[in-house]
Order: sequence, then C-alpha cells, then structure tokens
Amino acid sequence: MPRHFFEDALLYEDPNWSSDDRSITTNNDIVGGTVMKYVDEFRDRAVAGALAERIKKTVRRPWTIMEVCGGQTHAIVRFGLDSLLPKNLELVHGPGCPVCVTSVSLIDQAVCLASLPGVIFCSFGDMLRVPGSRGDLFSVKAAGGDIRIIYSPLDALELARKNPDREVVCFAVGFETTAPAWAMAVTQAKQSRITNFSLLIAHVLVPPAMEAILSSPQNRIQGFLAAGHVCTVMGYEEYEAIAQRYQVPIVVTGFEPLDVLEGVAMLVSQLEEGRVEVENQYVRSVSREGNRPARSIVDEVFEPVSRAWRGIGEIPASGLRLKSAYSTYDAELKFQRDLAQLSVGIEDPECQSGLVLQGLLKPPDCPAFGNKCTPEQPLGAPMVSSEGACAAYYRYRSHATSKV
Ligand code: SF4
Repeated sequence: MPRHFFEDALLYEDPNWSSDDRSITTNNDIVGGTVMKYVDEFRDRAVAGALAERIKKTVRRPWTIMEVCGGQTHAIVRFGLDSLLPKNLELVHGPGCPVCVTSVSLIDQAVCLASLPGVIFCSFGDMLRVPGSRGDLFSVKAAGGDIRIIYSPLDALELARKNPDREVVCFAVGFETTAPAWAMAVTQAKQSRITNFSLLIAHVLVPPAMEAILSSPQNRIQGFLAAGHVCTVMGYEEYEAIAQRYQVPIVVTGFEPLDVLEGVAMLVSQLEEGRVEVENQYVRSVSREGNRPARSIVDEVFEPVSRAWRGIGEIPASGLRLKSAYSTYDAELKFQRDLAQLSVGIEDPECQSGLVLQGLLKPPDCPAFGNKCTPEQPLGAPMVSSEGACAAYYRYRSHATSKV
C-alpha cells in the first residue's frame, strides 16, 4: 500500500501531525474520553493546494477519469475541485446516484401503488419529485395519497406493525449501501410474522454499471474513483477483476474535498506509471473485504437480477430482487394485478440524463438545463436528487458553462 498523499500533505502542512496523533486537529470533540474527528480537516484549503500541486506535477499526458458517486460529484462541483486540476485532466461524472438511475417504469409503479386505497407508501424524500410518465409521488401526496417520508427501513416496519389493517409498501431505492438495512427489515418482518409489509425494489449495483460504461464503444474513461460508501459495505475485492479485465486503475475514494483530491492524486500516479491496481484512499472506512455481517444479510435476502437504469437501459445482473424465501415481501408480486395495467414508462425526450450519467455530457450542455429543467420543474431525476449531477451544477454553478 503506497503512502497516502493526504497523509503526506497533512505532515507537510503540520509537522506535528502524525497518523497516530489524532488530537492535533482544529475540530475535535471529546466523547467518552475519545477524540472524535469531523469534517474540517478534510476541507483544509492549504492541504488541498498542496495536493493539487502534487497532481499538477504528476500529470504529463491527457487523462479522463470518472468519479462514480454523486456525493463525490457534489464535492467536486461545490468546492470547485476541478478548477484546481491541470487542464489536460478531465473529471467526468458517473452514474452513482440511485435516485437518478431508478427507471421511469419503477417510478410509474410507485405512483400507481401509492395511489391505491389502503396503502401507506414509504419513501426516502428524494424520490417524491422524480418525474415518471404518470406524474410523481409528490402529486399523489398532494391529491391525498398516504405517502410517508422515512429515514430508515425499520421506521416503515414499525408503521406496518402499528397499522395491521393497512398495506405498507416501501420504495427500496439505493446502491449496495442501503441494501443491508432493507434486508434487515425484511428478515425482521418475517421473524415477527408481519404480512402487511412489502418492498418495491429499485436496488442497483455499482460494479455492473462500471463494466457497462467500460464496454461501451463510446467509452473514454481511463480510471475510476470508486464510491467509498459502497465499498464500506462491499469491500473492493470485486473491483480487482474489473481493473484487470479492462486495464483501468481504480481508487476507492471518500467524499470530502481532500478525499477526492487524494483519490485523483493516487489515480493519476497509477496512470502515469502505467500501473493498473485497485487502491484504497478511504482507509478510515473501507477494508478489502468490506462489512461481512452486512454482506451476509444481503446475500441471505437478495439475489442479482437484470435491471433497467434510467436513461441507460438494461444492465445484466445490476439490480437486486428478493430471494424466493422472502418473495411474499415483493410488492411487484403482491400487487401484480394492480401493476399489470401499466405500460412501459417513457423518459421525457428532452432529458439527456442517460448521457449525463455515463459521463458523455456535462449538465450545462443539456439544452434544457436551467430553463425548461430546474429543481422546481425537473424534466429528469438528476435535477431533483441531492446527489444528481444536474442539481449540483444548478445549485453551485447555474451560470457556468462546461469546459467539455
Ligand atoms: S438538465 Fe434536466 S433535462 Fe437536462 S439532463 Fe439534467 S435532468 Fe435531464
């Protein structure tokens, strides 16, 4: 494991600092005698400058790299990290926003189920304004539908417990990060013999999407910053085969500005040196094997399934569905008669989200950006989601033009 630039940069910035002396920071809090660290030290301007300088000295040829995760995209756009990089190093934004890639058909199914009498529909707040071809969940709520915003799958299970005469249907959206919590809710429902609880599952998996991008004839990605929170759960063993198969270096990276800059620094070192490895920048959270109990409960409850990604299309084995032992909790099976009437959902033809999510278009280059499409009147999901690339540019650079 190479020495981390971030560690070097901190040492460069503060000669008293060492990885063993966590108390030399500006933003500490003492909890039960333990020093807790928050975010300020990961946003240090001087350290960012030192990292950017190091990247500039490393880069000698043009490179195009993709940050997979929407959280990383927001850090890049919000803090202007791309402006610190050399002109021949291009960062492009990836498909790592689960709200953005949930298919129009699944949004339509959610709208249909949330409109049924007797249903309490549970969702994370981000999903309410995402447009489908039959409107959005927010409109259903405005029309009197019983839609509850939840913060944890276990909140939804509690609702089912308290309302045995109602059907509680949950919109299970997310990457590998949130799958363990949904799996836990389903196992608890089974153990407690709760039958009025089900999931409309939109779960997607990151590695198949990275492979789909790398396999595309239009691909121009030469290295990836992988999503740190996904790897916190899943580890990064799976990425090693992808790196070798497609000969692309991958660096598991966190979300704060210095995380992203350090991830970029590690990636460009690999590219310039001709190395193809999976490295881990986000060592404070990620191990190679990930969180084994979390992986184990996901394997117990879910299995891979082909999934349509909004704007991108079907990607084999890129989604999750409930295994047969838990299929009574599958809302698509439970309500198949109600859902049978729906036709295939169609994306607004003006929305270019498929290109945005594959790194082929920067949001300001979409003709609808900021005029026909705004967070108040979105045409596509990336303008709504808190992790969406279009929302990031609208929020932080609504008058900027793309360098692509
Ligand atoms: S700006 Fe709006 S219309 Fe354009 S790609 Fe983004 S979400 Fe779609």
